Amino acid sequence: MTVTARDATRHAWLDYAWRIASAPMAGDSHIPACEASGGAPPIPGLTAADCATRLPGFIGERYEAGKGVLLVGVVFKTAETADPAFLPAVSAGATWARAGRSAASDAKFFAETRDAYTNAMPGWPVWKRFGAVLHALGLDLGDVAYTNAAKCWHTWRGYDDRNLAKNLASKCSSKFSRISSLVECIEPRQVYLAGASAAASVRRSAKRDMFVVNVVNGAVDGMEPWPNWLTEARGRYLGLTREEPAG
Ligand SMILES: [Zn+2]
Repeated sequence: MTVTARDATRHAWLDYAWRIASAPMAGDSHIPACEASGGAPPIPGLTAADCATRLPGFIGERYEAGKGVLLVGVVFKTAETADPAFLPAVSAGATWARAGRSAASDAKFFAETRDAYTNAMPGWPVWKRFGAVLHALGLDLGDVAYTNAAKCWHTWRGYDDRNLAKNLASKCSSKFSRISSLVECIEPRQVYLAGASAAASVRRSAKRDMFVVNVVNGAVDGMEPWPNWLTEARGRYLGLTREEPAG
């Protein structure tokens, strides 16, 4: 069987995802700190065993290094009754961590997380931004990888929790798994961030010509927000405008 570049990228992503999904079972030192900060509370509809995992995100079946894009959220927020379309993404990680690595368990985790995110993401508030980006680029969720800055989650209880989200995003991305390690692992062509929390980590690792956008305010490559950033993003993705190394 020939191993394609796409297979190699998917395997690299699975190695990355395993370190995150299995971290609670492995006694990762970040886990107690993350829970003390309000991360990973119980999720209605899931057992404690289901919730004994963290969320690496997903990778689409057509994602290719140098071509696919990476979408980065801040922290997954569960409502009082969590989105039923998303619950399988949490239990998939716990099941995978208990089963251990094998070709079959890896394939099951890949498919279950892809399906759960693909079903749930169009219902998320941030989809207004990410959906617009993918539409402009002519891509769909099969072409992208997604992760949150925080690999734990928290419950959504209004404005105060935004500070909690920022705190978790900063703790998780700096101490647990930096976004930069994912960028190095799957080499996206462009990175779209839902906010500024992971921007520093991405820019530290990104190749100098990687196009990085904050989709909340349209700040491109660390510059001031651009009113026409979506047009610029599309132009650069399709090669309609030249990509000048920043700085
Ligand atoms: Zn955490």
